[in-house]
Amino acid sequence: MNIILFGAPGAGKGTQAKKLVEKYGIPQISTGDILREAISNGTKLGLEAKKFMDKGNLVPDEVVIGLVSERLKKDDCKKGYIFDGFPRTVFQAEALDKIANIEKVVALEVPDELIIERITGRRISSKTGNIYHIKYNPPLNEDEKDLIQRPDDTKEAVIVRLENYRKQTLPVLEYYEKQNKVFKIDGSGDSKKITEKIIDILGE
Ligand code: AMP
Repeated sequence: MNIILFGAPGAGKGTQAKKLVEKYGIPQISTGDILREAISNGTKLGLEAKKFMDKGNLVPDEVVIGLVSERLKKDDCKKGYIFDGFPRTVFQAEALDKIANIEKVVALEVPDELIIERITGRRISSKTGNIYHIKYNPPLNEDEKDLIQRPDDTKEAVIVRLENYRKQTLPVLEYYEKQNKVFKIDGSGDSKKITEKIIDILGE
């Protein structure tokens, strides 16, 4: 099962992808996570990507496509995978079509005000990588109280990210609509119910 979780930044792609990994036993491929790992390892690619990411801009297509095609060669991708944050441009979607067969695209729809509130309040446990929200979902576990904010989760960067999403990434949805692969769901409610809806779409 090869699927794409689609949606604006803060739509809940990462949170839902983690639930689907548990449910289906296939990996989440988050280009954002791969790029952040390159940054924390201090690689040349990471340093280059950071310049784009911190401002809320997209990393060049060739870089991201290269990372994804390497990732897909790994053994754990044999039974399928869940893309989270990829493809983000039509160019990326076309490149992906040459190397993979995407079955379904699940699009999480969330209004802008909620996105800004979710992203600016988003914090990540430095210990476990779990995602929390300072107001709606603070960590209960003492171990996870050490929270960090992504440098691109500030209000200024979020506004740029939303603009780029509209200009560069929304056309990707049209691209997959033409292939009849898109399933849209309301991503603003209770996280567990959203997971259930996605599982209804993907099947047991
Ligand atoms: P995310 O964690 O998915 O919100 O991604 C964080 C940042 O990484 C984005 O704002 C981009 O700068 C970069 N990024 C992640 N995925 C892609 C992609 N598919 N294409 C270009 N840039 C990306």
